[in-house]
Amino acid sequence: MEGVTKTDIAALRQLCPGGVLTNVDLASISQWKIGGIADVVLRPSSTEQVADLRRWLHDRRKGHVVVGLTSNLLFADGGLRVPCLQIGPRMGAVAINGNDVRAQAGAWVPSFARKLMKAGLTGGEHICGIPGTLGGLVCMNGGSQRNGISTNVVAVESVNQVGECSSRSVIDCGFGYRQSVFQKNNEIITSISLRFSHADRALIRENMRGILANRRRKFPRRDPSCGSVFKSDPAMYEEVGPPGQVIERLGLKGMRIGDAEISPDHANFIVNRGKACARDVLQLVALISTEVMSATGHRLVAEAHHVDESGNIKPLNSVET
Ligand SMILES: Cc1cc2nc3c(=O)[nH]c(=O)nc-3n(C[C@H](O)[C@H](O)[C@H](O)COP(=O)(O)OP(=O)(O)OC[C@H]3O[C@@H](n4cnc5c(N)ncnc54)[C@H](O)[C@@H]3O)c2cc1C
Repeated sequence: MEGVTKTDIAALRQLCPGGVLTNVDLASISQWKIGGIADVVLRPSSTEQVADLRRWLHDRRKGHVVVGLTSNLLFADGGLRVPCLQIGPRMGAVAINGNDVRAQAGAWVPSFARKLMKAGLTGGEHICGIPGTLGGLVCMNGGSQRNGISTNVVAVESVNQVGECSSRSVIDCGFGYRQSVFQKNNEIITSISLRFSHADRALIRENMRGILANRRRKFPRRDPSCGSVFKSDPAMYEEVGPPGQVIERLGLKGMRIGDAEISPDHANFIVNRGKACARDVLQLVALISTEVMSATGHRLVAEAHHVDESGNIKPLNSVET
């Protein structure tokens, strides 16, 4: 095993009891159902474990990659030769105290939104259909209905590369449209403090039902995908419309390379119709980018990211095909 030896695995099992998986088929755990074999997946259950693992990896100069539920990621066909640190349900606790909410980064977003609704808290309805972790959502500043989770964030706790924990207030998180400082600083988000307002629970539930029904109408549901592939750029939106509309107008809906297909339901989604590989998706992304550039003069930027074998994460449109 390149990079991680049997002795390493034994040490990692001590640091992360019950959370070390080897030879993991990424296609079986990734949302797009694409990817080769990952040598090691680490699933810590506490901030202390995250810090210990990071310190251990740093001291041995071992690279690694951090993921949540992979709902915004495309893994390389060659898989992963560095450990994959996955922050998921083992770190999914949520505590609500009046208007204040503290959640671990592995909390599943749809169930987090439901907890807010049950507590009569409004502001989180727009995230109720997003199939990722709260940590991933904060890293991407994801949201819907022209909203981002940053609106409700008060502070974010994270662990840096050498295993030190710190807390950042919202103004230091560098939030922008689908952007945050965590996309660049290589820190792992471990918990998030948020604030929401109180409102009538029935109204919140009604609003969430409407949002989910709208998503079911608009987005493909049957085949695996990564949600919207391209970001909506305000200048492009103003001139020619959102990426999905532009791609549709160019007649690209339904276009297929291998088993990767531009969804006939929504042109900004690429769906896996069976055995798509990462190369098929990347080639479709390149084709769409070229067509949109030559028709509109606008350069599309991908919201979904690629993870290469060494754990480097880049927007899909920056990857050589
Ligand atoms: C069907 C579908 C619909 C979607 N709809 C939407 C939508 O409406 N709006 C929207 O914004 N997104 C949407 N997405 C994309 C995706 O769900 C979000 O970006 C989500 O928040 C990513 O969370 P994740 O846990 O899956 O993160 P991942 O995809 O695993 O990771 C995304 C990025 O976050 C980083 N990351 C993950 N966890 C952490 C952590 N704890 N600390 C530091 N960095 C971390 C990763 O390194 C990576 O760079 C959709 C995806 C799908 C499949």
